[in-house]
This record gives sequence, C-alpha cells and structure tokens, in this order.
Amino acid sequence: MKIDLHLHTNFSDGKLSPEKILKLAWENHYEYISITDHDSILGYLEAKKYLAKYPLELISGVEISTNYQSSDVHILAYYFDENNDEFIEMLRKIYDSRYGRAKQIVSNLNQMGIDLKWEDVLKYAGQHKYIGRPHIARALIENGFCKTIKSVFDRYLNNDSPIYVPKYRIDTAYAVDLIQKAGGISVVAHPGRLEDDSLLYEFIDMGVEGIEVYYASHSTGQIKFYEQIALENNLIRTGGSDFHGSDFYYLNYTAPDVCIKELKARHASKRGLNGTV
Ligand code: AMP
Ligand code: MN
Ligand code: MN
Ligand code: MN
Repeated sequence: MKIDLHLHTNFSDGKLSPEKILKLAWENHYEYISITDHDSILGYLEAKKYLAKYPLELISGVEISTNYQSSDVHILAYYFDENNDEFIEMLRKIYDSRYGRAKQIVSNLNQMGIDLKWEDVLKYAGQHKYIGRPHIARALIENGFCKTIKSVFDRYLNNDSPIYVPKYRIDTAYAVDLIQKAGGISVVAHPGRLEDDSLLYEFIDMGVEGIEVYYASHSTGQIKFYEQIALENNLIRTGGSDFHGSDFYYLNYTAPDVCIKELKARHASKRGLNGTV
C-alpha cells in the first residue's frame, strides 16, 4: 500500500493545487492520502471535489500551529467533523491572523532598508491570501534580495531575527481538546523537531492520541525511539512526507501500512465500531 498522511497544497504553503496533488497521488498509485494544510481545511474540501476522477481514499486532515510554553508545536488532526463550528472557527482565526503578521514582517524588512513591496509578496501567497514565511522568502529571492531559501532564513526570516514576528497560535491543550470535541484524532507532528522529547509526555497527558513516528526525515534511530513511546502509551503511529513542493520528489516515500490500520482502528473505536480496516 502507498500511504502519505502529511501533504500541503497551495491553500497553505505548498506549491500544488489540491487537484494536482490528487492527480499525482492517483497516477503514482497512492491508496491513502491526507491533505494536512496549516490551519485550514479548505484545500482538503477542494480536493474532495476531484475524488470521482481520482478515486483514492482521502482522509480529512489539518496541521494546527499551537503553542506550548513558547515553543511552536504542530498538531495534526484527522477524521474530525468538518462541520464542527467551534473547530472550524478556531482554524479560521489562526489562518486569518497570518495576513497582518506577514504585513508586519514586510514592514520590518522595509525599515531595515529592504525595499520589498507588499504587492510582490501577495503574488506568492497561497489561495485565500494564506501567507507564511516561505512566501516572503520566495518574494525576496524573486526580487533579487537573496539567492537561496537558506540565505533568506539565515539573514532575515529566522526566529531570532529582529524582523521576525511570531504567529498567532493557540495553546496545545486547547487544540487537542477541540480536536477531541470535533470527534477527531490528534497526532503530534514531526516529534523529531520538538525541543525536548519529554514534551511528548505532557502532550499525552493532554489527551493526544498519536505520534507521527514515520516522518519522512526521521532517522532510523528516531523512528525506533518514537515507536517505543507510541507502543508504551497506547498511541497510534502515523507517517507522512510533509510535501510542500511542485514535484513528487519523494515518489517512493510511503508510510508503513500500520499507520492506516491504527488510524482507522482508532477512528472506528471512537464510533463504537470494531477496529478492523
Ligand atoms: P511560518 O509558519 O510563516 O512561521 O513559516 C514556517 C515555515 O517556514 C516552515 O514550515 C518552513 O517551511 C519554513 N522555514 C522555517 N525556518 C526555515 C529555515 N531555516 N529554512 C527554510 N525554511 C524554513
Ligand atoms: Mn509548511
Ligand atoms: Mn509542521
Ligand atoms: Mn507540515
């Protein structure tokens, strides 16, 4: 089975449209995918329109920007109720706040003497004017202020830079709670990027139900370590590529079958059904 439970579209900071993602996944024989844009399910909803054409199984997903003790923690949610008002409203608030924050970053750049125009940044924004640092980075490169993404972040956009403006984020515990109330399954994204693995136990106490053990860039050692934590704490294991690009460079990437088995079993058990796929 080919599985990828972590993909971004141009409704957040990915380059491809939801239709294009579905088409590529279908052509490359993926059976289960999830579109997990940052703080928005609009790309996922758009992708659903093309399922008749590309009939693979699309699992509802989103990657939420949360805050735990001032660190940036990404929580994935799967199988939530798409019509849960409180959940959707929470996402909308995070998504919409990016616009003003990006404007502030550009204004800070201008004050430093970098003459980047807001209109030039907007050209690179995603659908519904979703703007993140990667869009500002592209605009800086296209307008000749920097050569590579790495140099843009090293010089201007890193978290410690004087021009950096933090995102509006909600508390991790609040996100986990809202996911739960919307009937969804919460999963700690790319745990290898956490400042400290012991944070996982804090998240487990909050009611997190899974760990993204099989993140494409985790090492074999990290995978073993997170597998163990998942097994010891009755957490499901998920996996994905975190694809943001324009081609399926990771074409051979697939999360192991156990991801879909455990995700579906958890989903079924929440609905009081038996947990077989
Ligand atoms: P934002 O959500 O607007 O703060 O942007 C975060 C995104 O910027 C991340 O998801 C990465 O795609 C990108 N990013 C952050 N730091 C770096 C870095 N040092 N080099 C390249 N991309 C980065
Ligand atoms: Mn991203
Ligand atoms: Mn992330
Ligand atoms: Mn991601």
